[in-house]
Amino acid sequence: MSAAKDGPRKPANRQDLRPVRISIIGAGNVGATTAYAVLLSGLAAEIVLVDVNNEKAEGEAMDLSHAAPNTHQTRIISGDYDACAGSSVVLITAGANQKPGQTRMDLLQINAGIFKDIIPKVAKAAPEAILVVAGNPVDVLTYVSWKLSGFEKHRVIGSGTMLDTARFRYELGQHYQVDPRNIHADIIGEHGDTELPVWSQASIVGMRLQDYCRQSGQKYNHEAMVKCFQETKNAAYEIIKRKKMTDKGIAAALMRLVETILRDENTLLTVSTVGTHGGVSGVSLSVPVKVNRTGAHYVLDPELSGEEKAELEKSAKNIKANIDSVDLGK
Ligand code: NAD
Repeated sequence: MSAAKDGPRKPANRQDLRPVRISIIGAGNVGATTAYAVLLSGLAAEIVLVDVNNEKAEGEAMDLSHAAPNTHQTRIISGDYDACAGSSVVLITAGANQKPGQTRMDLLQINAGIFKDIIPKVAKAAPEAILVVAGNPVDVLTYVSWKLSGFEKHRVIGSGTMLDTARFRYELGQHYQVDPRNIHADIIGEHGDTELPVWSQASIVGMRLQDYCRQSGQKYNHEAMVKCFQETKNAAYEIIKRKKMTDKGIAAALMRLVETILRDENTLLTVSTVGTHGGVSGVSLSVPVKVNRTGAHYVLDPELSGEEKAELEKSAKNIKANIDSVDLGK
């Protein structure tokens, strides 16, 4: 049957007519830059900024509004939690950031306190939204957000090692002089000091790294690979040493995650989800999971070498110990 004969397709229900609203809690470096990335993507009809510092949120909304006429017809507003009602996705980018020399885990108690303030308000205002957590330590805070929101597990997603995976592909792309998009190589586990690369599955155009080297006439250089991972793991420390914070890489990752959700892409991404990982239950960390309009869904345990399995378990146990240190009032 032709489309013309059928006439225009009718929306399934009135919900389909709602403008796509993306809310961002925390209009600091990460929040404001993510708002800008989402604006440039054209994915949202409305972007809502909420911050305990109302003036900052208002100022960012004004500035972003002036970018809209040259980019996309997106309405950017600042407001209170009520303004998040009807959001498809709510991004949590609030919280203290790392100072030079600080680890992400060092931020746990202060940011858990901030999340105790934010998450119940978000859950009340936007009960149908997908929550995307970016505040650090992101794995522990993803678990905390799941607990405090009462949402189903698949509707609470931490940005996890999505950024680390991007950094790793960038490093490998630089080494092999190949477009990072041709490289499949994941960082899994904690977004932090116990993260690990899945060397056993790393590939370029479907070929394991050693095979790619042999076929392309180069010598496989193990030391260079180790260096690529070290650069990945230490990237945030190195950036913070120079510019005091990081925002562009994470903003692009969050924009891509929002896109995956809104376009119902079923993309496998290394994001942090609550479940049993590395043999540890009740923990949130990153392995590749399928992301679509309904959230993030477990598909499989990645095939890991013995050494990688042991490292993932170590990472999971570290996150679990930190989860257990948070007083969730129950
Ligand atoms: P920032 O200080 O620039 O911004 C934080 C914002 O949160 C501030 O505007 C502050 O007013 C707001 N805020 C604090 N308490 C609040 C509350 N109770 N309610 C609402 N808003 C509140 O910090 P940043 O550089 O934007 O970093 C934000 C977080 O993102 C940090 O935890 C940082 O470590 C994390 N981060 C994560 C990644 C990642 O890969 N997941 C990357 C970079 C930064």
